[in-house]
Amino acid sequence: MARDPYQVLGVEPSAEDAELKKAFRKLARELHPDVNRDDPEAEEKFKEAAEAYEILSDPDRRRTYDQYGHEGLRSNGFASQAASGGIEDILSAMFGGGSSPFGDIFGFGSRSGPAAGGDIGVSVSIDLAEVLTGAQREVSFQAVTRCEHCHGNGAEPGTPIRTCETCGGQGAVQQVTSTPFGQMMRQSACPTCNGEGKIPDEPCETCDGVGRQRKERTYAVDIPAGIEEGQRIRVSGKGHEGELGAPAGDLYVEVTVVGDDRFERHGEHLITPARISVTRAMLGGTIEIPTLEGMHELTVPKGAQPGQQIVLAGKGLPRLRGRRRGDQVVVLDVVIPKKLNRKQRHVVEELDEVLDEPNPGG
Ligand SMILES: [Zn+2]
Ligand SMILES: [Zn+2]
Repeated sequence: MARDPYQVLGVEPSAEDAELKKAFRKLARELHPDVNRDDPEAEEKFKEAAEAYEILSDPDRRRTYDQYGHEGLRSNGFASQAASGGIEDILSAMFGGGSSPFGDIFGFGSRSGPAAGGDIGVSVSIDLAEVLTGAQREVSFQAVTRCEHCHGNGAEPGTPIRTCETCGGQGAVQQVTSTPFGQMMRQSACPTCNGEGKIPDEPCETCDGVGRQRKERTYAVDIPAGIEEGQRIRVSGKGHEGELGAPAGDLYVEVTVVGDDRFERHGEHLITPARISVTRAMLGGTIEIPTLEGMHELTVPKGAQPGQQIVLAGKGLPRLRGRRRGDQVVVLDVVIPKKLNRKQRHVVEELDEVLDEPNPGG
């Protein structure tokens, strides 16, 4: 279960933007995996903080969280970039391009060649009837895409691009940085050209020369019949776009199956409890029970026993990529009346006179 984002960042529910940013920066400095190489949980903690910041810094997400919690964010299709992908993806997705607010402290890791795009995670919910039939859902998410105006090279179309003088076109520089944790020597993306090796004379007006921009995207994802709660569907190449010449990341769609009191799912089988009267158990008859395809008339045999199971073959769910359906198992619960009116009591007393008492020992 995800923690409360206010608690994660250590801020009051009334905290304003500046306060959130300050709290997140502080945490990010403490938790950044580059300065916590010995702590295997650092990356997870960092991601948790990033996810909390992602929720609270976006007014729509924050409002949704305040009203409906994490469940509300999921069911409203708010994708968390922080929950998936690497640290650099998180920072670039949250702050755009390579211009991280941590650049002065951490820089970015050394790069060789264009970087591949990061993955994106989204969630959808479906109900059991849709597990039977399969479903399609349109998901919306923010993805880093190539700038359409400059086609990703960062220059205003028709203007020249120079080789960066700081890094001689390499895109990377050696840097010694002092941090609260000591000096760190590392190769980082060239601060002048942001690792591109080239600088446009006139930066693209649309993307400020970054070459990439965040865009709202939608994708219609096919959810196969038989899917289980929590399974993820990978859509190759639909994540953040990579740098020029590098592949895009993947889109991961996590599926939540909404619970239904009428059916308890056991893989491809469904269990349905059905309450019947004591006379129905004795005399047999028909009762109406719910199935995924509507109400079904079930024949209760004479002398039915509490806990007796009646199997409706093929009324369960399909297996993922399978054809045959599982069963629906109806479990009878015999309801013994706790109170009888005068007439009922009279009839039951008559029955009592003629019914054999079972041997208490069985
Ligand atoms: Zn551009
Ligand atoms: Zn440079």
